[in-house]
Amino acid sequence: MSDKKYIVGVDLGGTSIKVGVVPYDGGRVLGVRSMPTNSDHGAKFVVDRMVEMIRGSMRDAAREENIPDDGFIGIGLGSPGPLDRKTGTVIETPNLGWRNFPLRDLIANSIGLAAELDNDANCATIGEWWMGAGKGVQTLIGVTLGTGIGGGIVLDGRVYHGAADVAGEVGHMTIDSTGRKCKCGNYGCLEAYASGPAIAARAIEGLETGEPSLLPSLVDGDLSQITAETVYEAIVAGDLYAKEVMRETAKFLGAGLANLINILNPGMVVISGGVTKAGEHLFEPLRAQIRRRAFRHAEESCKIVSSTLDGMAGVIGAAYMFRVERFGNG
Ligand code: ZN
Repeated sequence: MSDKKYIVGVDLGGTSIKVGVVPYDGGRVLGVRSMPTNSDHGAKFVVDRMVEMIRGSMRDAAREENIPDDGFIGIGLGSPGPLDRKTGTVIETPNLGWRNFPLRDLIANSIGLAAELDNDANCATIGEWWMGAGKGVQTLIGVTLGTGIGGGIVLDGRVYHGAADVAGEVGHMTIDSTGRKCKCGNYGCLEAYASGPAIAARAIEGLETGEPSLLPSLVDGDLSQITAETVYEAIVAGDLYAKEVMRETAKFLGAGLANLINILNPGMVVISGGVTKAGEHLFEPLRAQIRRRAFRHAEESCKIVSSTLDGMAGVIGAAYMFRVERFGNG
């Protein structure tokens, strides 16, 4: 019997829940499961679903690698924030509708294993640092472009949490002081310009002013059906207006990233999430924007890359976060 240890990683998002079993020293993720969050069914439904997925994932992993019951040492939970890591409580999540929710202890008690809680984007960023694009990079910023824009900061191999676990909220940096209204209540946040829904909203506004484009034909004329994905499809089909929308996205994102690069001088920015499907249509103008805005020395020492963990950074990083909380960085 092997005495290898394993940690369950859980990535709870507004749209989906992902679970996998990660070997203590890294390696292939076992027993991967992914299901929709369906947060409209209420918190109990979501927690029950997480518990069921964790049990299933442990069962599959145990079968595959012959892991005894005591081979599983704990659970790392990544959740949208803001949250309190010390008490394991989710303080508020607009996407899930939770308030002061004791997620860590509910999961730990149901499974009978120790658990730790951290922000989902922090988990994804440390996951990239541990096993993905950011291996060996001292100072790393992770940015997740999805329904919202999440972020994480890794300084010298550790997640930087700040005074109240709020650090890394890159989506809510103001890039236009009198700009578009953001879900957080502020005006002009990066998220209000470059998240998936914000890209779609900007595309629709242009179409309503009569910009010629293939986009309406891709949604049978129902503009409300346009998503960031549709914009990407139109780009692939050669649509000039859709390309322009993506170039604008790169401009906003480039302004935000140039701020971060000048302040933190990271060796790498890893970008993940659905919007990165646009590939070089996003990255090429993005790098050009950053070159234009950031200090040359800072910009030249910073790689702007796409995630290499194929949507699993959050799961991998959540497991690593548990390891660090319980056993330190060694
Ligand atoms: Zn905001």
